Amino acid sequence: MHLAAGARCGLLEWNVMTSFGTSLILTSRAPHWRLLLPCFIAIAALLLCCAPVASAQATNPQQAVIRLVGHPEPAPDFQLAGLDGKPVSIAGAKGKIVLLNFWATWCGPCRAETPDLVALQNKYKDALEIIGLAVDVDDPEEVQKFAAAFGINYPMVVAPIEVRMHYGGITALPTSFLLDTEGRIVQKHVGLSNPLLYELEIRALLHLAIPARVETFEDTGQIFLKNAERATELPGVDFSGLTAQQKLAALRAFNGETCTCGCTLAQCRIYDSACPISSGRTAAIVAEVAAAPVPAEASPPNSTPSPPAVPKEPPHR
Ligand SMILES: [Zn+2]
Repeated sequence: MHLAAGARCGLLEWNVMTSFGTSLILTSRAPHWRLLLPCFIAIAALLLCCAPVASAQATNPQQAVIRLVGHPEPAPDFQLAGLDGKPVSIAGAKGKIVLLNFWATWCGPCRAETPDLVALQNKYKDALEIIGLAVDVDDPEEVQKFAAAFGINYPMVVAPIEVRMHYGGITALPTSFLLDTEGRIVQKHVGLSNPLLYELEIRALLHLAIPARVETFEDTGQIFLKNAERATELPGVDFSGLTAQQKLAALRAFNGETCTCGCTLAQCRIYDSACPISSGRTAAIVAEVAAAPVPAEASPPNSTPSPPAVPKEPPHR
């Protein structure tokens, strides 16, 4: 067992990722591109504020970039009752962009971003549905009070642990998932994001003009942990001493061996890069692979097929 997904405040630490982004990190995890994003967003902010969108910008390499999943997969649906008793589900928001915002009343960054979410919902009334999913709530009345205090204008539900696990465990707060109008997850943001980033992504999905270029990427575990088997780089794993073939063998081993948390070593590296078990095992496997005699050209380094890595139980609980 590593870190409980529902870790309490006492376990948390402030992690000032950038001048734009702070989050309550339950496990240490920050996709590298996030570190660059604020620069792009700053440029985008300037452009949004000061300049009309020109079509010529579309080919400008200096332009801000937002990234969305190229082949998005459906978001796990849920059937929950909102604070007002009305049913809340992803299917119920069909045809709209959906922003799923996992948060908690005790989470400072969550409180900080709430006014921006209210403003976004107000601005994109008809095209956007924000759904607030409160986690680690002892008393639903706390959520009621919060909603009243912040003038929440979108559905709020208390998210049971099963829903959180379907979304990969929610390792930090806030965590937001952006869904396209088809209910597919196109981006995930961990930590406090610049609201402008959300707006750029929402506008991109609505095919509205934005002062940014849209790039697509393949999910290699950042969004759905099961897709970790596609990853070719993993947090805390140094492949630099391996040949391409050795690296493939190591990755195969990472996807075939489970960590004590129940997920594969590859998944654990992504989900909980602080985990000493997967850290030690992956390092040992890299060393073994590097020391192994080079196999003959004709035979693959390891003919054992690795099964798809889908944990039966939620990882790290
Ligand atoms: Zn682990």
